[in-house]
Amino acid sequence: MCGIVGYLGEEQACPILIKGLHRLEYRGYDSSGVAIINAKGDLNVYKAKGKVSALEESIKEKDTTGTIGIAHTRWATHGEPNAINAHPHYSESKNLALVHNGIIENYKSLRTEMEKNNMTFCSQTDTEVLVQLVEYMMNTHNCDMYTAVQLALKNVIGAYAIAILDKSHPDQLVCARKGSPLIIGLGKSANGRAEFFLGSDATPIIEYTNKVIYLQDEEIAIMDRSGHIDITNLSNVKQTPQLVTLQMNLDQLEKGGYPHFMLKEIWEQPNALRTCIRGRLNMADKDVLLSGILDHKEKFLNCNRIIICACGTSWHSALIGKYFIEEAAQIPVEVEYASEFRYRNPVIYPNDIVIAVSQSGETADTLAAIQLAKSKGAFLYGICNVIGSSIARATDSGTYLHVGPEIGVASTKAFTGQVITLALLGLAIAKEKKTLSDEMFHMLVNELQQIPDKMQWTLEHNKNIDQFAQMFTYCKNFIYLGRGYNYPVALEGALKLKEISYIHAEGYPAAEMKHGPIALIDEEMPVVVIAPKRGMYEKVVSNIQEIKSRKGKIISVVTEGDTVVRDMSDYCFVIPDTRDCFVPLLAVIPLQLLSYYVAIAKGRNVDQPRNLAKSVTVE
Ligand code: GLU
Repeated sequence: MCGIVGYLGEEQACPILIKGLHRLEYRGYDSSGVAIINAKGDLNVYKAKGKVSALEESIKEKDTTGTIGIAHTRWATHGEPNAINAHPHYSESKNLALVHNGIIENYKSLRTEMEKNNMTFCSQTDTEVLVQLVEYMMNTHNCDMYTAVQLALKNVIGAYAIAILDKSHPDQLVCARKGSPLIIGLGKSANGRAEFFLGSDATPIIEYTNKVIYLQDEEIAIMDRSGHIDITNLSNVKQTPQLVTLQMNLDQLEKGGYPHFMLKEIWEQPNALRTCIRGRLNMADKDVLLSGILDHKEKFLNCNRIIICACGTSWHSALIGKYFIEEAAQIPVEVEYASEFRYRNPVIYPNDIVIAVSQSGETADTLAAIQLAKSKGAFLYGICNVIGSSIARATDSGTYLHVGPEIGVASTKAFTGQVITLALLGLAIAKEKKTLSDEMFHMLVNELQQIPDKMQWTLEHNKNIDQFAQMFTYCKNFIYLGRGYNYPVALEGALKLKEISYIHAEGYPAAEMKHGPIALIDEEMPVVVIAPKRGMYEKVVSNIQEIKSRKGKIISVVTEGDTVVRDMSDYCFVIPDTRDCFVPLLAVIPLQLLSYYVAIAKGRNVDQPRNLAKSVTVE
């Protein structure tokens, strides 16, 4: 998981590459580097530990001229984050430079083999092994770099997106992918001549062109200055690329006046969810239209079980989805951590439906989990945000979130987008299966449609959380409690706090308190309780009593007008009333804001928290 940028054209490459790296920093940011071939034919590589700004600083006095180059922002998997392990990596002769996203699993045996041939290595990375292997193939097969890349990749086990420069061909850019995303942008420079851009996603490309090609697994592309592009597979069979026109504009990627992407994305939720349900909720007929379900109606009518595979925040939305689908559509649902599922020998029947939930659609564990499910004959359904992502392409059917790009590492609008998408899915299946009365179905459709407005209300009524977040900066631990649909919200609230403020937090089903965690309660312990005036309200009130009598500090999320829990609480957040099953969509909002403002009060970098990356494309 990292960012790759590339450029070949008439312009100076370096500013384009650096700008592109900044746009991709959310994908990984422990070190970065650039490789550029200058007019004299020198292949210069510069690297620095830390953020892209550190690289920028370090190359100020260097020769960064040249109109062809590649760049990388790294999230280390093999070898510590330092300048030596940063990409691009030279081959031994320094004729080649390569950037890589992914993991070469058999790098050790490849390296040992090459060391036997007296080749030396400077870094601890799997990536250096790859560039050396390409050079090794060039030397042993006496072939050009493109052919050598094909030969090298045939010997590689693992995942990669790579871009590679050859000093002796300063007019050619080569790239390839398998399991990690890579996009080629086709543009025209000011004088009308062709230029090419590379990006791990569209963010570094979109301001220059919206014409792109999504490279497919095991495809290799070669581009030259005349505007020619050739794509083949590893066996040199020519592939026909599909040119796609991107709809996303750059404005969507900017912070829109907010200090952080995370805050912008929290406030975007009402509109993002309006877009998500647009065209899918038909209010005139009180209907739910999900083409992903309608096109495969029989599968859903005949399935005995649904398994949802996900990681992190998506796993929490999957749990909420499970409760809803079981209740509305009467189908048993299991929720699995993709990373566990893929390494067990899970029992999967051909009439099981496996749903993958992933914001990026590139989560390596989730992708592997669905590949396993596919091999056992299950029908695959994808719920992703990023269009054309690997999971979206690997599944038989699916639904996009349509909540717009999420840049903040801590997921917010993608979470609520996933919850509402799973609710739409549950309703669509329930309709086909006739498991809900017409009256109940219409009522849920009506209520779902009002959720974006209720989210707006929730945001407006909780924006002053910043005024007391300061009080919690001294805390070492938090507990989050919820029951039923709100238990996953407690998990999500705790995860948000951990991710960006680095305060330890645990989410629990409220009734589990007395089976252990209650021993932790004292006057130092803030306990966040989700206590809407619905479902198990009375029982949650009793749980609050238990905490209060042990002097814990109560932060509650209550329904507008509730005075009982409010009076028992030290701090209280209000949400509008809604059906039990939709409370998570509102209750999570004050918890997102709480974690954001506590993190800000602690001086944390909320958009790029330490040790985390946005798109987890390594296992
Ligand atoms: N495995 C490579 C490394 O550790 C690439 C990691 C990445 O995708 O950033 O350098």
